[in-house]
Amino acid sequence: MTFDELNLAPAILKAVREQGYENPTPIQAQAIPAVLAGHDLLGGAQTGTGKTAAFTLPMLHKLSKGQGKTNKFGKDGIAALVLTPTRELAAQVEESIRTYGKYLPLTSTVIFGGVGMNPQIDRIRGGVDILVATPGRLLDLQQQGHLDLSTVEILVLDEADRMLDMGFLPDVKKILALVPREKQSLLFSATFSDEIRQLANGLLRDPQTIQV
Ligand code: AMP
Repeated sequence: MTFDELNLAPAILKAVREQGYENPTPIQAQAIPAVLAGHDLLGGAQTGTGKTAAFTLPMLHKLSKGQGKTNKFGKDGIAALVLTPTRELAAQVEESIRTYGKYLPLTSTVIFGGVGMNPQIDRIRGGVDILVATPGRLLDLQQQGHLDLSTVEILVLDEADRMLDMGFLPDVKKILALVPREKQSLLFSATFSDEIRQLANGLLRDPQTIQV
């Protein structure tokens, strides 16, 4: 399997080629066609498997073809929301989105706790297509009225097991209630406890399961 066989936009393939990647990793080869076909996804994968590109590349492709919606502030609405357990992972994922999306007219930003809110509020106010966030700060900004999640079309829960280990389940549930029911959802986890399965069962509709 080569990247060229995956039907990704040329602008994305160009960015991938610049990274020096020769072929998709196993999780990429399985996840990319499934996400492009519109399926929800349950992905069992550790870091180091290429899982970030596995969800980022098809997400970018879909958003680049879509219309995008305007939010209640009259700006580009958030079309994709990626939740991660830690600020380090959030920053890494957003960096990957920037790298793979460098030739696309899409905007992204990252928000997490422990730093000032105002720069994050300003960036969100300007309108973003893709938001990467940790759950706590996302809810803080939402509760203060700075976020409109009603335009989300793709939701990713990355490292869901770590999110639950860190006690984020109540926050994640609150966030799930703020995004539209009608959306594409992807859940990645290295391990599958009963709690993760319950979360996945509540969120995912007829998901494709990928285990690497
Ligand atoms: P991740 O599992 O998403 O944390 O990715 C692990 C590392 O693999 C990152 O440094 C990526 O840049 C790299 N990577 C992702 N996809 C590929 C690929 N298809 N070929 C080579 N390296 C890759």
